Amino acid sequence: MEKNIINENTIQYRILEKLDRVSYYTSAYLFHDNGQGILLDSGYYEMGDFIKKDLEEMNIELKYIVISHYHKDHAQGAIVFDTPIIGSDQYETNLEKCNANYKRTYRKPDILVDDKLTVKINTSRIEIYKTPGHTPCGLSVLINGDYLYVSDNLLEDTDHRIIIPYLDITANPYDHYKTMLLYDELSPKHLIFTHGPVKLNADLNYEFSERIYYLEQLIKSDFSIDLCECLIRDKKNYAMTAIHKINQRNAKKYVSAQPTSFFK
Ligand SMILES: [Zn+2]
Repeated sequence: MEKNIINENTIQYRILEKLDRVSYYTSAYLFHDNGQGILLDSGYYEMGDFIKKDLEEMNIELKYIVISHYHKDHAQGAIVFDTPIIGSDQYETNLEKCNANYKRTYRKPDILVDDKLTVKINTSRIEIYKTPGHTPCGLSVLINGDYLYVSDNLLEDTDHRIIIPYLDITANPYDHYKTMLLYDELSPKHLIFTHGPVKLNADLNYEFSERIYYLEQLIKSDFSIDLCECLIRDKKNYAMTAIHKINQRNAKKYVSAQPTSFFK
């Protein structure tokens, strides 16, 4: 487990993972302001344990945990805390899947987000947006209007290659697309990735247009298009491209649900 001080208010806790020869980080972030903190995801169980001890050592009172979505690498660590959890009101399906695959019971959210929720950590303003994409229960967090925690709606490997958008089996591709437009509208200065770095003064045009293009091509083709036609650059610039086949399969159920005016 690696502890990275991002700035005087932000700490990244991360581990390195590997899948199909692709390396990527899995992170949880602590934002703190004058002795109060909010945890953006909790990582795996062991990560939660490590963070809890670290908070005690730093004497930081944890006010909330935001679970950006119910997958084990984001929600499992919350089991070790009794801090209130903020989650999407669409949490149930994915929480059930988590519980079915783990010997312990995941914690349900205590505070539900049905559109947007604003909380304070000392004088800092924390805006939590409902951002379905990778899963229907997605949340993103905007800190003081500058730092946007995007969770798994943007993914990157350790070689800074884009991992193409990943629609899990419960995901709605139209929602993912709309969430990318919301990110663009929020226009943050910096981006915080779970599976990737903190990008200061991020190139938003690059980050968002790559994903928007992919999703737009995929949706317009009724999810049948070849991978290369969904990518702006050559395929070698992207990681985990095998996800494309999974996306096609997972999105298929939305073919007949396509709103006719979606791209107007
Ligand atoms: Zn993840």
